[in-house]
Amino acid sequence: MKKGRETEMAQGEMMQALRLNGIGDLRYESVPLPKRQSDEVLLWVRACGVCGSDIPRVFTKGTYHFPTIIGHEFAGEVIDADDLSLIGKGAAVFPLIPCRECSACNEGQYAQCANYDYYGSRCDGAMSQYIAVKKENLVLIPEGVSYMAAAMCEPAAVSLHAFRKADVYENDTVVIFGVGPIGLLFASWVREADAKHVVLVARSEERADFARKLGFIDVVDSSVTDVEEYVSKLTGGAGADVCVEGTGSSDALELCLKCTGNFGRVVTMGNPVGDITLSQDAYWKILRKELKLVGTWNSSFSEKQNDWEDVLEAMKDRVIDPEALITHVFGLKDYEKAFQIMHEKTEPYCKVMFTMDER
Ligand SMILES: [Zn+2]
Ligand SMILES: [Zn+2]
Repeated sequence: MKKGRETEMAQGEMMQALRLNGIGDLRYESVPLPKRQSDEVLLWVRACGVCGSDIPRVFTKGTYHFPTIIGHEFAGEVIDADDLSLIGKGAAVFPLIPCRECSACNEGQYAQCANYDYYGSRCDGAMSQYIAVKKENLVLIPEGVSYMAAAMCEPAAVSLHAFRKADVYENDTVVIFGVGPIGLLFASWVREADAKHVVLVARSEERADFARKLGFIDVVDSSVTDVEEYVSKLTGGAGADVCVEGTGSSDALELCLKCTGNFGRVVTMGNPVGDITLSQDAYWKILRKELKLVGTWNSSFSEKQNDWEDVLEAMKDRVIDPEALITHVFGLKDYEKAFQIMHEKTEPYCKVMFTMDER
């Protein structure tokens, strides 16, 4: 710890953070420095992504209580811990704090915990200079992986978890609806699995272009292309082996059911934006084609399967390149601009990221 900072922290015990004080009332303000418990470490947050879910959290839906520091996609440096070997280490953080008492927790299925806490929604998150986090939630960053890449661990782990649910085989045709960070990361895993076709469906030309720039070839803009026809042509009428609903909309789910071939899989991954309804015709597709609908939620973080460790390994080996998805980087104090881009869609974006260089 730098000497100046130490004195400052001892005197003021304050830090800067983005705190949600009510719906639509996000402020960059001075807040008390978190005090860590013995099972926690103090992390100097180095990077924190803005999740799509942060937009309704800030502007329309709010969160469980106010004020709350938001931010759940983050990585940083351990600056205080009981275990001295951790100090100075970089770590990403699984944002869900399981109760470790319910039946799901006993199975290590923390995403299904009946009574969990969550950094950045149920309790204070990481759009701040520092955060106290459970030691058990740390995943150490391997050499060569940046803090910004590590802050992408959450969407990357969510995408890997969904990919694992999809059972993609070599030579499969996979269609992904939605080209946000999770959709694009999902597409990266599919590409790695030697699928025959990875089709990305965007809802605008701008978004389609961004996906093409990342090297994806089969990218269609659903506002101008008939997706069902496109997939049918591509597969010689057979339909896709797997379709992924990554937008949370009825339209996309309807298209997923129509684009998937006999005995195919449909993965529901997008958070629904409202009620999801289906036409009778689309519903029949589930029956007639004997489709398998697969839900996916969050990520695994247990000894049996740890999507987070696998994701960091993949980043280290350059299997995925999450930094390519980062279109905007801001300091915390420029939060208004950062949130405006995502909320009002004032310019094209994929992942908006905050970095904190000062301590
Ligand atoms: Zn998120
Ligand atoms: Zn539990």
